[in-house]
Amino acid sequence: MIKELDYIILEHSTKDLEYIDYLTENITKLSKEIVDFFEIKNFGKKIHVKLFSTLEEFRKECIESAKKLYNLDSYELKDWVSGMSFPNGIYTLCLEEYRKTRSHNNASLDELLFLILHEFVHSCCRKKYGNTKHCAWLSEGLATTISHQYTQNNYEFNATLDEMIIGTSNYKDYHTMFSYVLKKYGRDYILNLLNNPELQKQETLKLYNEVLDFYKSKKEESKMKK
Ligand SMILES: [Zn+2]
Repeated sequence: MIKELDYIILEHSTKDLEYIDYLTENITKLSKEIVDFFEIKNFGKKIHVKLFSTLEEFRKECIESAKKLYNLDSYELKDWVSGMSFPNGIYTLCLEEYRKTRSHNNASLDELLFLILHEFVHSCCRKKYGNTKHCAWLSEGLATTISHQYTQNNYEFNATLDEMIIGTSNYKDYHTMFSYVLKKYGRDYILNLLNNPELQKQETLKLYNEVLDFYKSKKEESKMKK
């Protein structure tokens, strides 16, 4: 079954019927926000989003596509992965199957909505900047933040610089660093970083230290209040 939206062709199954109107309504609203953030003028081809009706099929397609994309003989797909963005589109799951992936047993419909939008952010990023590799805090911070997936920052920030660059930390930390930078330096600065990998490398150390200091002083403040 197919739903054609402004920027997305949504392929789904009968398993999604009871909530498909809610999904499409909110995807339409929030995907526009995301496209505007990137200032994509001519969007071109719509992004194909497939909600797989079985976890097995989803996993198989993700592994095949990842192998092709990264030119690998084998690809280890973690058991919590529930959505991926590829040059030919986005793979994710119906709500029932999404709940079968690790630590998503109680996932709500909104969590599925934000997951789709998270992957949509990656697709828009690829549309605008090609396959340029970005630091984890920037690409995942962007995806978690402008999709509205995460709105709350951590109270503490203890990730290392390396983790923030290569992506071995958690999504909450990327969101915490990204939202700090967005709030302080604004959207144009973020777009500049995305467009300029050299600048991104240079700025990351400075930004990381700022975030670290900010959370250190926040912690000390809260200690003094006690
Ligand atoms: Zn992501």
